[in-house]
Amino acid sequence: MNIILLGPPGAGKGTQAEFIKEKFNMAHVSTGDILRQAVKEQTDLGKEAKSYMDKGELVPDKVVIGIIEERLQQEDTLSGFMLDGFPRTIVQAESLDSMLNELSSKGKGDRKIHHVVYLEVPEQELVNRLHGRAQAEGRSDDTEEVVKNRIKVYFDQTSPLIDFYDQMGLLRRINGLGAVADITEQIFSVIG
Ligand code: AMP
Repeated sequence: MNIILLGPPGAGKGTQAEFIKEKFNMAHVSTGDILRQAVKEQTDLGKEAKSYMDKGELVPDKVVIGIIEERLQQEDTLSGFMLDGFPRTIVQAESLDSMLNELSSKGKGDRKIHHVVYLEVPEQELVNRLHGRAQAEGRSDDTEEVVKNRIKVYFDQTSPLIDFYDQMGLLRRINGLGAVADITEQIFSVIG
């Protein structure tokens, strides 16, 4: 099974990704994690990405599309993958679609997306959660101004994906408010 986790920053994608990975044993592909690792290692990719990430802006499409293209060639994604934090723009979603079609036509496994799990959380709750996380984790992109920008960027550039995937018949809406375990249960019942 191949899935996409969609939702605003602070919706709980990372938390739920861990539970999904455990149950379905799929490759967890988080562009945020890959980028943060590159920043830490000060690679060329990391140097390019850092200035965008620190401002809460999106890293350019061609950069993240390149990351995903490379990642989906790796063996562990053949038996199923979960994309967490990608796609984030319509351009990324369209590239993903053609990338997966191409891989399928080359006989490289079943590469279609089965579900887009959309974690829905009201905006005010996101702000509160991200401030809590800023204090707990000290992420450099969790300061007040950057948090606001990340939420704005989500509504401007990423939220159009909700309709995009709804029209493809792939969108699974999950209420992202409430106890973590209840949300996990909702997700399992929809994708399981
Ligand atoms: P995340 O951990 O998914 O919230 O990602 C942290 C930051 O990495 C984002 O605020 C962006 O700057 C960058 N990033 C992660 N995924 C993407 C993506 N698909 N497109 C553009 N930028 C991304």
